[in-house]
Amino acid sequence: MSVDRRDSAAALTGNASYPSLRGRSVFITGGGSGIGGVMTAAFAAQGSLVAFVDINEQLSQTLVQKIEKAGHPRPWFRKVDVTDVGALQAAIRDAATALGDFHVLVNNVANDERHNFQDVTSDYYDDRIAVNQKPMFFATQAVVPGMKKKSWGRIVNIASAHALVASPFKSAYVAAKHGIAGLTKTAALELAEHGITVNAVCPGYVMTPLVEKQIPEQAKARGITEQQVISDVLLAAQPTKRFVTVEELSALVNFLCTDHARSITGTALPVDGGWTAH
Ligand code: NAD
Repeated sequence: MSVDRRDSAAALTGNASYPSLRGRSVFITGGGSGIGGVMTAAFAAQGSLVAFVDINEQLSQTLVQKIEKAGHPRPWFRKVDVTDVGALQAAIRDAATALGDFHVLVNNVANDERHNFQDVTSDYYDDRIAVNQKPMFFATQAVVPGMKKKSWGRIVNIASAHALVASPFKSAYVAAKHGIAGLTKTAALELAEHGITVNAVCPGYVMTPLVEKQIPEQAKARGITEQQVISDVLLAAQPTKRFVTVEELSALVNFLCTDHARSITGTALPVDGGWTAH
């Protein structure tokens, strides 16, 4: 087996480079708004060729127009419900025909609602897995042949602190997110020798539409004010007492997609203000 010494040599001579992702092709699920929307814009702003799917056509088209207006490459977009894995894989194939085999896949879609363990029905449980976990598996399956051809790939699964720890009233979401940590490790092991890394990013609470809609729901269910939901429920376990920002997440995802992160694989990286240090 040959040993690649280029990076250490470059670092020693002061010529270490930190390449941008300009020209790299990137596929994002749920890239139309929230965390996914910021990542779509951030990749496009550095000249990556971005394709994304999202169920919300209006928000997605608005984002595409904003990115184009800012002078960045126009993202490829298709309205897809990711629970239809055939449609998701077809979108990946068609986008790869337009932009080239993908260098990067960001599996980002999820949804969540407060649910009492005892009230979870079989259909509800299936739906959580169908949105929050199954598309990651089949999107990964679809991009891997193209990445293997390049011997280079970066797969980032947006999981959650709930891939590492639990909270009450989130049983189906927590089960799906814990499964993502296992899927990430298995894919990382299978793909390591092909130059493909697979990592899960595990955010604490981030103020996005997903969380905003939970605040009134939780206030009603617990008989407390919305401000109390923020301080006593959402941020109670987050020692920094502040929400994680989408920019912080996007910067980490970006780093994981560079050459310098090639030795980081199979991880579940918390970005949670210390939550999982408890
Ligand atoms: P969000 O609800 O704000 O955005 C999700 C995006 O996915 C939206 O654009 C939505 O239209 C799209 N989407 C939803 N269902 C879809 C479907 N079936 N098919 C295609 N697109 C669909 O969510 P977010 O807060 O940006 O969350 C993004 C990821 O981050 C999720 O995996 C979530 O679990 C994770 N996360 C978020 C937080 C948080 O506090 N916001 C915390 C931990 C983890």
